[in-house]
Amino acid sequence: MSFRRPTVMPAVATLAAVATLASLACAPAPKVASAGTTASAPAAGGIDLAGIDRSVAPGDDFFAYANGAWLGKNEIPPDRSSYGVSGVLVDLTARRTADLITDAAKANAPAGSLARKIGDTYASFMDEAAIEAKGAEPLRPALEKIAAIADAPGLARALGGTLRADVDALNSTNFYTSNLFGLWVAQDLNDPTRYSPFLLQGGLGLPNRDYYLDASPRMADIRTRYVGHITSVLKLAGIADADAKAVRIFELERRIAGAHASRLESEDVLKGNNHWVRSDFTGRAPGLDWQVFFAAAGLDRQNDFIVWQPGAVTGISALVKDQPLGTWKEYLTFRTIEKASTFLPKAFVDEQFAFFGKVLSGTPQLRDRWKRGVDVVDAALGEAVGKLYVERHFPPSEKARAEEMVRNELAAFGGRIDRLDWMAPETKAKAKAKVAVLKVGVGYPDRWRDYSALEVVKGDALGNAQRSSLFEYRRNLGKLGQPVDRGEWVMNPQLVNAVNLPAMNALNFPAAFLQPPVFDPTRPAVMDYGAIGAIIGHEICHSFDDQGALFDAKGRLDNWWTKEDFAHFSASSEQLIKQYDGYRPFPDAAVNGRLTVSENIADVAGLAAAYDAYRLSLGGKEAPAFQGLTGDQQFFLSFAQTWRQKIREAALRQRILTDSHAPAEYRADTVRNLDAWYTAFAVKPGQKLYLAPKDRVRVW
Ligand SMILES: [Zn+2]
Repeated sequence: MSFRRPTVMPAVATLAAVATLASLACAPAPKVASAGTTASAPAAGGIDLAGIDRSVAPGDDFFAYANGAWLGKNEIPPDRSSYGVSGVLVDLTARRTADLITDAAKANAPAGSLARKIGDTYASFMDEAAIEAKGAEPLRPALEKIAAIADAPGLARALGGTLRADVDALNSTNFYTSNLFGLWVAQDLNDPTRYSPFLLQGGLGLPNRDYYLDASPRMADIRTRYVGHITSVLKLAGIADADAKAVRIFELERRIAGAHASRLESEDVLKGNNHWVRSDFTGRAPGLDWQVFFAAAGLDRQNDFIVWQPGAVTGISALVKDQPLGTWKEYLTFRTIEKASTFLPKAFVDEQFAFFGKVLSGTPQLRDRWKRGVDVVDAALGEAVGKLYVERHFPPSEKARAEEMVRNELAAFGGRIDRLDWMAPETKAKAKAKVAVLKVGVGYPDRWRDYSALEVVKGDALGNAQRSSLFEYRRNLGKLGQPVDRGEWVMNPQLVNAVNLPAMNALNFPAAFLQPPVFDPTRPAVMDYGAIGAIIGHEICHSFDDQGALFDAKGRLDNWWTKEDFAHFSASSEQLIKQYDGYRPFPDAAVNGRLTVSENIADVAGLAAAYDAYRLSLGGKEAPAFQGLTGDQQFFLSFAQTWRQKIREAALRQRILTDSHAPAEYRADTVRNLDAWYTAFAVKPGQKLYLAPKDRVRVW
C-alpha cells in the first residue's frame, strides 16, 4: 500500500521530505543554465527531435529511444543530485522568484508589509559577513536552555517545545522530522467536518530506519561517516568531548530507529488511523511525561489525537525514560545545532553539505547562496511570494487553458468509468459522484494566507527561520476547532509539483508546474496532454487508486467499493507490482513494486485519461502531423521526454528506499500498458517492453 503523492518531479518532492531547515542546504538544486554544463530543454514549441536516439527500438527501451541522445550529451550540474525537465522548470522558477524577491528587497517597502518581510528575510540570509561575525553565538540561548534541563519534566518540556507542523501523512507525504515527533493537522479521517492533530514518529538524523538497521557494507559505511559528521558538528559549536558524545548520540538514534515503523507501514492509512484521547498516552506509551510535553507544545487543551505509528510512539516514549538524561541532553544539543546549520557560518554549512549533499546524495557541489536564499524565503513566506509570482508569470489566459485541460480530463475519466465492464453499477455511481465534487485548484489558492503575525527581524537569519517555523506551527494549531477549509493549499504556487489531497478530495496544480516545457502555448496541445496532461490525470486518478478507494466523496475513511470490485482492482494492482518489481537499476537493488504501487497505478490510469482527453479535445478528429510525427507519436514522445532525467547513484539508491514513486526512467515506460502506444511505434512481440494484451494493466 502506499500513499502519495507530491507527484511528480521527484527531484523536488523527495528531498523536501528530508529535513526541513537542514535540507535547504542540500535539497536538489535550481541551477542557472550556463553554457556547456546544463541540459537543454526540449526545443521550444515541440518535441526535442535531437534528443532522440534512433539506434534504440522504441519497443525495447522507450525511455532511451526518446531521450538517449540527450542523456549522452548532458551532464548533471555539480550542485545537483539529478537533472532533467524538472531541473529546467526549477531553474526557470528559481530565477523568476529570485527577481521578485530582490525587487521586493529594493522597494524599501513600509515596515510590516509583505514586501518588507520578503526582502528582509532574504537580505538577512544573504548577509554572510554578519553571519560569520556572529559565529555560533545565535545558538547560545537554545543551548543554555538544554544545559539547564535538570529532570524528567524538564526534558519533557524541552521535547514538547520542539514539536512543529513539519510532517504530512497523506497530502505532501512527508514522514520525516528530525524532532522527536512531528505534528500534522488535517481532517479527521472518521469525521471530515473537523480537524484533528496527527502525531508522527521522528527523531532521526538519517533519512529513515533502514539507514540505521540495514546490515549492508554501504549502509555501515554511511553510519561511520554519520558519526564523524556528528562529531564535527559538535566540535564546530565548541562542545567538549565531541567524540564520545557523538557515539552516544548515534546510539540513541539507532534505538529510536529500532522503534520506528517502516516507510511501507507508515504509508498504510488503515494502520495510521488510531484515535487516542489524551489520557491514553500515559497508559499506552509510558515513559515521557505527556502532560508536560503537550503543555509545552501548546496542546494542553486538546483531548483527541490520531497516533499514526503507535508502536513507535510507545517505543520512543520508553526510551525517554530508560536512556540517561545526559544522553538526551547531548542529543538535543546536536539536533539544535544541526537544524540551525543552514543559518550559521560557512564552516557549519560546508559540514552539513559534506554529509547530506555529498555522502547521502552524491552531489559534488553546494548550490549558490542566492538559490538557497530563495528556498529560505519560500519556506518562510511561500504564499506571499506566490502571490507576486502569479501576478507576473501566470496570466489568466494560461489559467483558463489549464482549467480547460482539467475539464477534458475529468470528462475523459468519467467516460472511462462508464466503459468499465467489470465494475458494479453502485461503485460506478459512487466514483462518478466523487469526480463531480473533486475540487481542482489551478495555479494558486482562491484565498491567500495571512502573514501579519509573522515577525521578521533584519539581520537575524536564524531567528527568522525559527520564528517562521513557530508561526507555521501556531497557524496549524489555530485550525483545531475551526471548520475545515477545502480551499487551503499545501503547496506554494512557485513549486514545481502537484498534489492530490485525499481527505479533502481536492487537487493542487501550482502555477510553476504550468510553464514550458511541460505546458507551452506555442506548441500543439497534444504535446501538453502528453506532458502536464498525464500529470493532471495522475493526480485525478489518486482519488480512485488503492488508497483513494478508501475515502468517500466527503473524505471520510470508508471504502466505497463493493467487495468484488475491490478484489478485481487489487488483482490489477498485483500485476502492476510484478511489472515494477522487474525493474532493476542496479544488480543489487530493484524497484519496490509494492512501495510504489499507488503512484504506478496513478501513472498508468493518468496516462490513459490524458490520452482520452486529448482525443476528446479534438472532437474525434486526428491531430495534425507535426515535426513529421503523428498525433499519437507526439503524445507519447512528449510524455517520455517529460520524464528524462539523469541521476547520481547515491541519490537513486536513496530514492529506491524512501520514495513512493518509481525512478523517472520506469515512469516513462508506463506507455507499455496502453494499446495505442503499440500502434504508434509498431511495437512487436519479442521486444523488451512488449506486453501481451492480457498483461497490459488497465486499472481504469
Ligand atoms: Zn502521485
